[in-house]
Amino acid sequence: MSELLMGKNYNPKEFEDKIFQYWMDKKYFEANVNNEKEPFSIVLPPPNITGQLHMGHALDHTLQDVIIRFKRMQGFETLWLPGTDHASIATEVKVLNQIKEDEGKSKDDLTREEFLEKAWLWRDIYGRKIVNQMKKLGNSCDWSKERFTMDEGCNDAVTEVFIKLYEKDLIYKGNRIINWCPDCQTTLSDAEVEHAEKEGHFYHIKYQIKGTDEFLEIATTRPETMLGDTAIAVNPSDERYHKYIGKTVILPIVNREIPIIGDKYVDLETGTGALKVTPAHDPNDFLIGKRHNLEEISVINGKGFMNSNAMHFEGMDRDKCRVEIVKELDEMGALIEIKDHIHNVGVCYRCGTVIEPRVSKQWFVAMEKLAKPALEAVANKDMEFIPKRFDKIYNHWLENIRDWCISRQLWWGHRIPAYYCQDCDEIIVNREAPVSCPKCKSKNIVQDPDVLDTWFSSALWPFSTLGWPEKTKELDYFYPTNVLVTGYDIIFFWVVRMMFSGIEQMDEVPFKHTFIHGLVRDSQGRKMSKSLGNGVDPLDVISEYGADALRFMLMTGNSPGNDMKFLIEKVEASRNFANKLWNASRFVLMGLEDSNDNFELNGTEELNLSDKWILSRLNEVTRDVTNNLDKYELGLAANKIYEFVWDEYCDWYIELSKKRLYGEDKEAKLTVQKVLVTVLKDILKFMHPFMPFITEEIWSHMIDINEALIISEWPKCDENRLDENSVKEMNAIMVAIKNIRNIRSQMDVAPKRKAKLLVVAEGKIKDNIIKNKQYLIDLASCSEVVLEEKSNIPDDAISVVIDGGELFIPLADLINFEIELKRLEDEKKGFESEIKRAEGKLSNKGFIDKAPEALINKEKEKINKYKDMLVAVNERIESIKGKL
Ligand SMILES: [Zn+2]
Ligand SMILES: [Zn+2]
Repeated sequence: MSELLMGKNYNPKEFEDKIFQYWMDKKYFEANVNNEKEPFSIVLPPPNITGQLHMGHALDHTLQDVIIRFKRMQGFETLWLPGTDHASIATEVKVLNQIKEDEGKSKDDLTREEFLEKAWLWRDIYGRKIVNQMKKLGNSCDWSKERFTMDEGCNDAVTEVFIKLYEKDLIYKGNRIINWCPDCQTTLSDAEVEHAEKEGHFYHIKYQIKGTDEFLEIATTRPETMLGDTAIAVNPSDERYHKYIGKTVILPIVNREIPIIGDKYVDLETGTGALKVTPAHDPNDFLIGKRHNLEEISVINGKGFMNSNAMHFEGMDRDKCRVEIVKELDEMGALIEIKDHIHNVGVCYRCGTVIEPRVSKQWFVAMEKLAKPALEAVANKDMEFIPKRFDKIYNHWLENIRDWCISRQLWWGHRIPAYYCQDCDEIIVNREAPVSCPKCKSKNIVQDPDVLDTWFSSALWPFSTLGWPEKTKELDYFYPTNVLVTGYDIIFFWVVRMMFSGIEQMDEVPFKHTFIHGLVRDSQGRKMSKSLGNGVDPLDVISEYGADALRFMLMTGNSPGNDMKFLIEKVEASRNFANKLWNASRFVLMGLEDSNDNFELNGTEELNLSDKWILSRLNEVTRDVTNNLDKYELGLAANKIYEFVWDEYCDWYIELSKKRLYGEDKEAKLTVQKVLVTVLKDILKFMHPFMPFITEEIWSHMIDINEALIISEWPKCDENRLDENSVKEMNAIMVAIKNIRNIRSQMDVAPKRKAKLLVVAEGKIKDNIIKNKQYLIDLASCSEVVLEEKSNIPDDAISVVIDGGELFIPLADLINFEIELKRLEDEKKGFESEIKRAEGKLSNKGFIDKAPEALINKEKEKINKYKDMLVAVNERIESIKGKL
């Protein structure tokens, strides 16, 4: 027998860290290429090194840990590969803030090298911190394979992909309109732009047609950009305007002559039907400009201020300029009207600043060719979303994708492997810095200062972490991975990009399933956020309730794709559940203390109904939970386990077992011990993925075990143990017991007081109750259980409802009439004295003269009430006297 005696109380602090260390020491999390076994792999969505572990991670990681532990016990060679993400823009902002705080320096005061040194230091401190937090949660990742999106291997993969795509013309450098954050001073991809509703205006402005008195009315939300207008566009089929196509207008204030062009993009229904075209500051105008060969005149600089093309507005910020321009237009009579308008503006996902579309020379990934196979892979079910509805977001994003702008004007990230010859403008894309220009032999070469979008490296995560571009054994064995678990908020940031990158580089989808979960919201359903201060730190919860309680709460509340609320009461309930399991296990194991017996069921035991029932239910639950987990229905599995363990095993079976455990019959005692142990072992197994610490701890106290629970074999459903009849019979008995107990407790009958049970039933239910009457005697305080004709049941017998029959308890068995009579007579005396007191008051002339009418009426009401109660109590007294 192994280490004796579990602690008296469930105290997760005493063993959670110890058990995690034990798993680590034994290398149970480590995965190796093993051709004897089928692989099952997951890559962990790498958390950003900017942050702490938050409740969203706790949910995301627990889901993965449950899956990986389940598969490990099922005998797969399981790899859960962990790591962290350098989070380019987010980290750069944080590091710069810290430098500002510590040294008062801003980015302009630093060299690139000075900055990078601080950034790597940040990574060493905070990158470690979040890893340690993941371990507290119990993550059974293969920590020996931990990666970082900017480590050497990932950097090699990034360079390789860049060069390959460049050579296939799928990466190009071009002058395109991009999203620009004037505050972060960098480009943003479309995915990094959030949309917000803002109050604004439509400004209606006159553009005079040259050489006439006529004008076109233009409506715009951004009048400051008119300084960069290079055309007016109308729809060629618009009867109001088509006669003007080919003419020109004079741009107000600027006095530049610009053409009126016909373009089908202009919507006949919205606005005035005439559109000002500013190719340098609007993505749609940019495309119109390309079609008509228009000049791009930029009037706003990268910091959001008006530039030298903006004439006397130069140096104003864009908002101020708007006010000034409108004033000037009004003064010159070119402003027609201003209408209020709520419009959708793009804002930076990092800092919330309104995005400024800008024409700029940047690096792009050409998306059309890459998007197609990624769409097909989902259409063909090579990759399936759980729940399925999320394929809509995925498809929509890919069907409408524009070329992906990947260069960022930042320092923290993968440097773009492009080099420029300063003498002949040759662009050299290369793995290493070239010594001289291949075209002009100049040695005057500089590397592109920009870094890549942070998602460029996370897009490669499923294969870069397995050794690609090297052809490693791990890559061959573990790729494609089985499932990606992630939140719906990064489907387009990340899932889409891993898909097309995996297909392009590996010729195979990176994962077969994508399991989407929602957000963990606060108790009022609000998003947890720093500004609201409503976040709950998972580490605090773990420290107070244990990791198992947090994990189980997150799992029971989860349904794929949906948000959930974090309720501390539910964490408490999960802790109580762990406590229940602890106490039940302790009860079972203590009983085995002095025994040298083997507790395997060998088929020769004489099982009673309760044994057959619990073994049948165990196998049913094993079958159902396994099915649920196979389909990633983790919440359903957790709820089934909870009900079975709490109600059926702890509350019913353990109680049902006590008579034999404490009895003299040694064989019966051994049998019930065997059943208790058999069921407990499987309970620990199927609870293990959800509550790994407590189950491993209890397991270590089991007798005759020689391996850790984490690597034990997942239970299988034994069809021979499924016994529908026993389950039905036992359920009927349990319903009878429960209902009898309810009635007794409503009537406040002490458990000691035994009562006869009269059975009016036929057929199966009659046989069942008579055959199993001992359970009713033991657990429902029945003195005896006897069959009775309906006509012989006394009128005042209490009836107990069951399915298919009726049970009665004679009232006299539940109530001691003499005591009851005494109680009623005391009650009667009380009412009489109340009546006397009130009548006395009302006959007192002093009271009647002085008291307000309301008070007098109140006393009269009291008399009536007590008189009614007196009648009732008298009736009950008479009825009981008749029974004595
Ligand atoms: Zn920003
Ligand atoms: Zn050159």
